[in-house]
Amino acid sequence: MSSHYHVIIIGTGAGGGTLAYRLAPSGMRILLLERGDFVTREVDNWSTRAVNVDGKYQTSERWRDRAGKELHPHTNYWVGGNTKFYGSALFRLRKEDFGVVKHHGGISPAWPIDYDELEPYYTEAEHLYQVHGERGEDPTEPTASAPYRHPAVSHEPRLQQLSDDFTALGLHPFHTPLGIMLDEKNRRQSRCIRCGTCDGHPCLVNAKSDAQVICVDPALKYPNVTLLTGAYVSRLETDGSGREVTRVIVERNNVRESYSADIVVSSCGAINSAALLLRSMSDRHPRGLANGSDVVGRHYMGHINSVLMALSRCPNPTIFQKSLAVNDFYFGSADWKYPMGHISFVGKLDGITLSAGAPAIAPGWTLDLMAKHSLDFWLTSEDLPDPENRVTLDREGGIVLSYTPNNGEGHQRLIAKLEKLMNQQRRCPIHGRECHQGLFSRNLFVGQRIPLAGVAHQNGTIRFGDDPATSALDRNCRAHEVDNLYVVDGSFFPSSGAVNPALTIMANALRVGDHILERLGAKREEKLTMSVQTVGAT
Ligand SMILES: Cc1cc2nc3c(=O)[nH]c(=O)nc-3n(C[C@H](O)[C@H](O)[C@H](O)COP(=O)(O)OP(=O)(O)OC[C@H]3O[C@@H](n4cnc5c(N)ncnc54)[C@H](O)[C@@H]3O)c2cc1C
Ligand code: SF4
Repeated sequence: MSSHYHVIIIGTGAGGGTLAYRLAPSGMRILLLERGDFVTREVDNWSTRAVNVDGKYQTSERWRDRAGKELHPHTNYWVGGNTKFYGSALFRLRKEDFGVVKHHGGISPAWPIDYDELEPYYTEAEHLYQVHGERGEDPTEPTASAPYRHPAVSHEPRLQQLSDDFTALGLHPFHTPLGIMLDEKNRRQSRCIRCGTCDGHPCLVNAKSDAQVICVDPALKYPNVTLLTGAYVSRLETDGSGREVTRVIVERNNVRESYSADIVVSSCGAINSAALLLRSMSDRHPRGLANGSDVVGRHYMGHINSVLMALSRCPNPTIFQKSLAVNDFYFGSADWKYPMGHISFVGKLDGITLSAGAPAIAPGWTLDLMAKHSLDFWLTSEDLPDPENRVTLDREGGIVLSYTPNNGEGHQRLIAKLEKLMNQQRRCPIHGRECHQGLFSRNLFVGQRIPLAGVAHQNGTIRFGDDPATSALDRNCRAHEVDNLYVVDGSFFPSSGAVNPALTIMANALRVGDHILERLGAKREEKLTMSVQTVGAT
């Protein structure tokens, strides 16, 4: 196998997988290097015990926090990356998120590109990932150049009732845009069966729009695309000038291999891409590759996320719970002028999942009873890019993740808003009583802030920008200091908004893909012209 390619892409998740899809038809020789393997299709894909209790598909890697305490990251190394496990809630950032946004805890900085530049790629990514949704319901939704191609995923009765209750209270609940291949008009032939084990699980029937199914598998149909699994990239090496990556060092089957390409793209996820660049330090790049600005690894963000279980009198028999969301408090409210964030749902929790150490048992309840009566909300607020929240390496090259929470007040207020709303619910038409009232004298909410190990929404560690002094990547996600190095995972975010990140990573990968296509086309022409001139001179 030849070891030189036009493009090497490291990592096959939302960023790398989508980029591979974009570049594959060009005929360029493309090598995908993925440390993981394909997820085995097996019954355990849909077992909450295997997935949530045993952590069967999670990495066994151990990182450390700032204090040196061991950290078991909840992340997954497989073809398709974390999209194999995601809830496929595929949101655009809001238009305002691309500008400066003032938060209670500080400033969320502007991006070097504006929403309009990414908009066509958002549309394309939504179509590619078969997003089901309904335009016009979400009051904070930015303008879009095309409708969703697939109808919104309907609510089951309990969520429809909640949606109606929220509407009656003056809110604007909406259908969560979701990348699942559900055909509700033809359930008999629908690929997606609308099961209860979507969020956090791989899809046994390949009906989730993940990066493997949607992008990597189709890309591999092209003879010019090669995938190596079990291929851990340990280091990138440059030429003497330090301006070009000339060797991609891979550990595979306990053997060290080396590959090269005209363009090298890191898409290992925000934490691992930062770690890779830091590991690739050299005389020319003493602080880590492309890190003259010293921003590589810094500004780690992961959102402020909480799961809030609202325990109601009425049971919640919902199977697929992720259909409903509320953004009325995204930018603030009449009584609080700062952003609070986004309210949606996690997949329906069960007693087995709760036994994995989620919320404490409410007095008088069993875990099963709690799960049968809970509405399981997912609340997301924006954390701000603090340079001291960062990825570094310990002496053995292991990952250290330092993080001090910030901007927490808006999140607390979001929780308080939701609790208040739940206490104001009207009489339930199904059960003829106040469903949302707790079984006890007071309403019951059991909450848990997602801990540091919950790195699902990791981003920000190799930010893009126009100023090489304050960013590592330019607006095309090319390293300021290394001509042929790009990063297309969640690292490039200068700020993270408060909606799930994957669609933005996918849209940006398509955008960067177009840039790379143009660049390599130009380069091939350049080479042709040069050789013609040489011939003419002799
Ligand atoms: C349980 C869960 C639920 C989620 N739900 C949602 C959701 O509903 N909506 C949403 O928008 N987002 C969701 N996310 C987040 C979403 O999955 C991520 O934002 C997205 O996958 C990040 O894309 P990425 O390209 O940055 O990295 P990843 O998708 O993580 O891909 C990185 C890839 O690089 C590989 N890799 C890492 N290091 C190396 C190396 N050194 N050499 C070779 N390969 C390497 C990894 O194995 C992986 O395949 C969820 C995440 C999780 C875990
Ligand atoms: S069948 Fe549908 S709901 Fe179930 S995991 Fe697959 S995509 Fe998700």
